[in-house]
Amino acid sequence: MGDITLKEKISEMSLAFVGAGKMAQAMAKGFLAAGVVKADHITATAPSCRSQPSLEDIGCQFTHNNKEAVENSDIIFLSVKPHILPGVLQEIAPVVTKRHLMVSVAAGVPLQFLEEKLPPKSRVMRVMPNTPCVVRQGASVYVPGSHVEKEDSEIIKSLLSSLGYCSESNEGMISAVTGLAGSGPAYAFTAIDALADGGVKMGLPRELSIKLAAQTLLGASKMVLETGKHPMQLKDDVCSPGGTTIYAIHKLESGGFRNLLIDAVEGACLRADTIA
Ligand code: NAD
Repeated sequence: MGDITLKEKISEMSLAFVGAGKMAQAMAKGFLAAGVVKADHITATAPSCRSQPSLEDIGCQFTHNNKEAVENSDIIFLSVKPHILPGVLQEIAPVVTKRHLMVSVAAGVPLQFLEEKLPPKSRVMRVMPNTPCVVRQGASVYVPGSHVEKEDSEIIKSLLSSLGYCSESNEGMISAVTGLAGSGPAYAFTAIDALADGGVKMGLPRELSIKLAAQTLLGASKMVLETGKHPMQLKDDVCSPGGTTIYAIHKLESGGFRNLLIDAVEGACLRADTIA
């Protein structure tokens, strides 16, 4: 199927988010910003009404009824917390049919478990997205289950690519992806806040400090992605002999900056393996 036909097909599909929380809303808003899905083709569910206003503001439908949302949709994003997912699978399994492509975004819940809890031969996938999907700068991977068809993968790849970077992966890597990219925005937010604190300490206004810190990380990220140069090459390029930057790098190395980041990814990855 050609790309245009696939996109047309996706634009006619109905999507449900079972679990209308932060990740679901980030993805729904990203899809609408990308124009890949119609707002009135998106339904999200939750037991409380907390998310209802923000979803209805962007034209999506909201219901408390998980089964009804599944019955009326083609692609179902399972976006509840991992420990809630087993109960939700039990609840919706009776209405899952061949029509449905079931896509779990839950950390740490294996494909085999999802497939066992749903009717035989259900089309199931795992996706690990992150919240920058909301500004279409997400970083996601998807892992097809045993019964998905080639077109299912193409659909999910097309949808996720509209939210930023996306690639197919295998299940053995998904916890590491969770530790690096799923949880990664929080490391970057903390880094931006800490850099801004540094600016404030040295006399800059808070607002300017946050802007400079965020734009500096954005610019550095774009340089890595657009020049194709290794990050350490780019770092070397801005460290003049005896200059300010190499003094700062020495401070970072003395404080164990790299070790901390490696530990952070490892910690989140190991947690993903035990969270469900
Ligand atoms: P969240 O708490 O913001 O959202 C969960 C939503 O599920 C809430 O709206 C809650 O009301 C709803 N819910 C609870 N019980 C329900 C039920 N029985 N039926 C339907 N809805 C129910 O959590 P989140 O951060 O959006 O995370 C959701 C999933 O996304 C998790 O499995 C997490 O592993 C995954 N994920 C999150 C991120 C992230 O950065 N937040 C990144 C990658 C993956």
